[in-house]
Amino acid sequence: MKISFLGAAQMVTGSCYLLTTDKYKVLIDCGLFQGDSDSEDLNRNLFDFDPANIDFLLLTHSHIDHSGRIPLLVKRGFNGKIVSTKATFELCSIMLPDSGYIQEMDVEWINRKRMRAGKPLIEPLYTISDAEKSLKYFEIINYDEVVSLVDGIEVRYKDAGHILGSAIIELWVKEKDEKIKIVFTGDLGNKDIPIMRNPSVIDEADYLVMEATYGNKIHGNIENTLLFLLDIITHTVENGGNIVIPSFAVGRTQEILYMLNMLKESKYSKIKDIPVFVDSPLAINATNIFKNNEDLFDEETKELIRKGDNPFEFPNLIFTKTAEESKAINFYEGSSIIMSASGMCDAGRIKHHLKHNLWKGNSCVVFVGYQAKGTLGRRILDGEKKVKIFGEDIYVNCKIYNLNGLSGHADQKGLLDWFSAIKKKPVKVFLTHGEENSLLAFSSLLKENFNIDVEIASIGETVEIETVEKSISILTDKPAVKSKIDLDLIDDIDAILDTIREALVNNSTLIDMNKARLLSEKMKNIRSQLENLDKLIKNV
Ligand SMILES: [Zn+2]
Repeated sequence: MKISFLGAAQMVTGSCYLLTTDKYKVLIDCGLFQGDSDSEDLNRNLFDFDPANIDFLLLTHSHIDHSGRIPLLVKRGFNGKIVSTKATFELCSIMLPDSGYIQEMDVEWINRKRMRAGKPLIEPLYTISDAEKSLKYFEIINYDEVVSLVDGIEVRYKDAGHILGSAIIELWVKEKDEKIKIVFTGDLGNKDIPIMRNPSVIDEADYLVMEATYGNKIHGNIENTLLFLLDIITHTVENGGNIVIPSFAVGRTQEILYMLNMLKESKYSKIKDIPVFVDSPLAINATNIFKNNEDLFDEETKELIRKGDNPFEFPNLIFTKTAEESKAINFYEGSSIIMSASGMCDAGRIKHHLKHNLWKGNSCVVFVGYQAKGTLGRRILDGEKKVKIFGEDIYVNCKIYNLNGLSGHADQKGLLDWFSAIKKKPVKVFLTHGEENSLLAFSSLLKENFNIDVEIASIGETVEIETVEKSISILTDKPAVKSKIDLDLIDDIDAILDTIREALVNNSTLIDMNKARLLSEKMKNIRSQLENLDKLIKNV
């Protein structure tokens, strides 16, 4: 069996891995490359496989950098099954057509330029219609259920706590009478963030493909972030300005709504009556999908709802769907909180709100998510004093804040804690989904703490997955690792033997003496076997 790393290797976008068994081809994620100038070419490139030969696409979650090339995959001949959770399917059913719309709009703009230059026109990567067609291939899987895909391949999806519907995928593949378990973390969530549950723990894995986006960072504290937001809003409202929040439509917008609901409920809050506008059709549809999947929320959010306080419904929360409603926000008298997409300010209605507020000394812009290099959001955040919006120069005079305590990804500690909780550690870890510094830092940390074989996956690389026994033989060139593990085991067994010996000496009536003797014999046996194994490895 082989794993090929076809995206999100030493970078954070374009997640795509191909697992090739003796009979089947299974794809894990099929995301868009985003951010830099090469992305467009990478997205348009031919796939490194024939889409018609793929049997299954296992989708970890709906974010476009994991799902965004699905319509293209189908357009180029994929005819297999796409396996996802119900919430991931529901979110894809709004996000993929939205992505198709963006592709169509981008190409329209490019073609206008090409037409003027006398160049041949190009086609969009895919259209809204391609995206809608691809939704027919989805099949729903429940969390925590082991499902047999075909003879020899079983899967289980566990909540990754990253975004509604997100999953860690456990995969059991049987080849030549041996079962190997491979785990793909997808994107691992951050603990204790609003709405989402903490990432599930995995008991064991033979091989692990793990994300390390923040392998070198520790996030700020969420309570401080909440207080900072309250401070910003209170101060801006006192000065009669607006609070403009560029926000990713899915996930981040709902987290901010949760926080605003909390702040508005707080008895110290002076912001109870300030209207909150959610001005993005995609964010509105996504919020409805969140509302339909309350069973996936964490206990805290469920408890709120049980008490009758739905975080997505509060007085003066206004969802503006039509363009007319959106324009009317700019004529609202008095302060308001305006949340709009896109999160990096390059497209969508947020540009109108920036145009109306950036020049006002009493308004503010609050960034709540990552701003990629080159985007309008990043330029404002980096302190540019004049930006062009819809061809007009706009003076940046308002206050600019960065709320960086929010993240959908586990930080270094979160990643390490999650890995520590795996009872039977993998023989090998492949690190993906991170910039070089982050991957290097986390790789050293894993090696130091667990004496484990860690590889930073390279894009285009294919690795042979050996049987577990064979990989142990590979590990013998690191005898120190092996002997430490075995000595730990021997210590454990010694402790059990001591307990039994004590019970025998004290003639304890708490355990059956015959059974205890038998158990003691068995333990001695295991101990001597382990000692032999240890000697064997030390002599290699
Ligand atoms: Zn994600």
